[in-house]
Amino acid sequence: MRNLVTGGAGFIGSHLCRSLLEQGEEVFCLDNLSSGQILNVESLSSFANFTFIEADVVEPIELEVDRIYNLACPASPPFYQADPIQTSKTSVLGAINVLELARRTGARVLQASTSEVYGDPLEHPQSETYWGNVNPIGVRSCYDEGKRMAESLFFDYCRQFKVDIKVIRIFNTYGPNMRPDDGRVVSNFITQALQNRPITIYGDGSQTRSFCYVDDLVAGIFAAMNCPADLTGPFNLGNPNEFTVLELAQLITAQIQSNSELKFIELPLDDPKQRRPDIHLATDLLGWKPSTTLKDGLPPTTTYFSNLTS
Ligand code: NAD
Ligand code: UDP
Repeated sequence: MRNLVTGGAGFIGSHLCRSLLEQGEEVFCLDNLSSGQILNVESLSSFANFTFIEADVVEPIELEVDRIYNLACPASPPFYQADPIQTSKTSVLGAINVLELARRTGARVLQASTSEVYGDPLEHPQSETYWGNVNPIGVRSCYDEGKRMAESLFFDYCRQFKVDIKVIRIFNTYGPNMRPDDGRVVSNFITQALQNRPITIYGDGSQTRSFCYVDDLVAGIFAAMNCPADLTGPFNLGNPNEFTVLELAQLITAQIQSNSELKFIELPLDDPKQRRPDIHLATDLLGWKPSTTLKDGLPPTTTYFSNLTS
């Protein structure tokens, strides 16, 4: 199979590219390196079937491929809010470009959507039938509404042009290959704890997230991509074990045996108060569920960050 992975130099994309290459597949990794790191894919050039294309997904894509994984989009709030118009363009024009490519080549195309389509959810846990609670004009809307529009385009291309689509909604995922300056909670807390700097808790730390280890997520991405054509999703992919941000900070500082203090600072605007995936659909239809606990997934992540700084 010839696979296109957009956003392949990013955190999740780089794991996906490696896993495809290890299965003997051909991989075209398209990335503009805006939030990704060339470091993540440098070692993949030892695979003969790997091609890196530095390009922007907002431009039309000319390639012959069988499978498309559309991951191109900054995922960390500070990164996607830094240039919100580019974020919206990436989601919307990027979706149109991969869907047009799929329409022309007959490729199957998977969209990396997000739990953020549920916004600050009023239903808990979140199942795929929930339509969400999104502020359409807030600072997170470039990402939330961009991803919602992308989902809408995927389903319209499926209905109107019979494009073979899959849509997954990824919940907070962590692991090696995240940027140390990514700004997301796991990378922030680990790098702060390793350097005995204050742990920055936004708000009072009572907000919750459910953290999925990247290897589990990649297995879920394959389960979704390879399922029968009539199963389009959307599928929630995440780990339903829910933690407060304060609990996460305590777990990380205890594991690292850090002397970091907790520093409470202002909660960002529209920060969702709670998030936990209902994964019954993925478990029943895709036969997928995560197996790595947060306690087990944090040490390899910490090792990755400590090797970067040493
Ligand atoms: P990431 O920022 O590490 O990776 C995104 C990649 O896309 C980067 O390599 C970046 O350079 C690239 N990119 C951004 N805009 C681009 C553009 N216009 N053209 C080409 N490349 C572009 O983030 P990630 O955590 O690996 O997320 C990957 C995908 O999964 C994203 O679509 C994100 O929305 C989705 N997702 C991730 C999470 C998570 O917890 N990590 C949760 C929900 C959804
Ligand atoms: N957060 C925090 N300190 C940080 C970074 C994030 O308390 O240094 C909080 C943030 O306010 C949010 C949660 O951790 O409630 C998850 O944030 P992240 O940016 O990782 O992901 P998202 O908000 O997109 O789920």
